[in-house]
Amino acid sequence: MREPGFNTKAIHGRGGPEAEGAVSTPIFETTTFHYDTVEAGAALGLDRGEGYFYTRWGNPTTAALEERVALLEGGEMAIATGSGMGAISTVILGSLKTGDHLVAPRASYQAAHELFAQILPRYGIASTLLDTVVTEAYEAALRPETRVVYIESPNNPLLDVTDIAAVARLARAHGALSVADNTFASPYNQNPLLLGVDLVVHSATKYLGGHADVTAGLIVGSRNRVLALRPTFRIHGPVLDPFAAWLVLRGLKTLGLRMERQNANALALARALAAHPKVERVHYPGLPEHPGHRIAHRQMRGFGGMISIEVRGGLAAGARVVEALRTAVMAVSLGSVETLVTHPASTTSVTIPAADRARAGIREGLIRISVGIEEVEDLIDDFTQALEAA
Ligand SMILES: *Cc1c(COP(=O)(O)O)cnc(C)c1O
Repeated sequence: MREPGFNTKAIHGRGGPEAEGAVSTPIFETTTFHYDTVEAGAALGLDRGEGYFYTRWGNPTTAALEERVALLEGGEMAIATGSGMGAISTVILGSLKTGDHLVAPRASYQAAHELFAQILPRYGIASTLLDTVVTEAYEAALRPETRVVYIESPNNPLLDVTDIAAVARLARAHGALSVADNTFASPYNQNPLLLGVDLVVHSATKYLGGHADVTAGLIVGSRNRVLALRPTFRIHGPVLDPFAAWLVLRGLKTLGLRMERQNANALALARALAAHPKVERVHYPGLPEHPGHRIAHRQMRGFGGMISIEVRGGLAAGARVVEALRTAVMAVSLGSVETLVTHPASTTSVTIPAADRARAGIREGLIRISVGIEEVEDLIDDFTQALEAA
């Protein structure tokens, strides 16, 4: 029999019945689990017994989500966390110690950037933050004490693309752990573990959940690498609630359908916006003129649902366009069924000095679009009327 496809895996996992023959995974909303003997309890606490012990250790609903995402990412094991940052901080703090060094893009997710730039130095851990994500920049930043090489591709705000296989090879040759944030692509479009990366992290708040109604994260990798992070996870405690795990599991069943539509909508909208006279530039890895297009074509199955555009007229024009949109919703976050837009220079990055904003690629007229699953004609109409109004 052939290897099941993405949607079959997303819906059925590895197969087999749920508890009591349920078709939908039951929600085990319980913090603790009964054991029959003190020996059995001791074994469970040490991870040696069959069954569950305490929800911070593990929970059947959460375990079903972990198994499903591990399957979709091509990993052996996963840990579900209460947020994407719970996953990222568990991996980073669980893999580094005083004296170690990390290499990461400067333009990584804002809170991840603050972890690298502000929290790690308090523990005597140094970071080199790269202004460009070309492989040569990663190579030049490696030091003898580099222990983690961090990738986010495509990333904010210009959808820069990293050659994941090349950077993973560099890290491995150097004896460093490679970690990729696969939130923007989702496992439907890209599997960094299959490109040689050691660990994948996700904000499941975005595409995996897919409906802007649950905050969650995941860490995925080989059994040994994931087990190595368990003590940090259990001690720091960014646990995912079983009901939230169930919401992500429900979202996962339609991830393939949503991503297929979001890939197509984003490409069509990117093309339409590129042809609009009020749009100076469109950043989308699916357009041949995007600097990362060739690499994206090689390592991704689809180019994703995230687009950035630069409108003519700077800060004021950017703000006017996002305020004039009627269908697209002005809100942070991404990866949901509805189209979401942000104008970083006037909102999420307003506290960053203009020079630093420019260095990070956040130009005054830059608008970030998380393309939803609406009819693309409606989205093109909406952006067209907003650009005319601005
Ligand atoms: C949102 C996001 C995160 C953080 O996830 P939370 O669930 O908000 O903690 C990390 N990385 C990327 C790329 C994100 O978009």
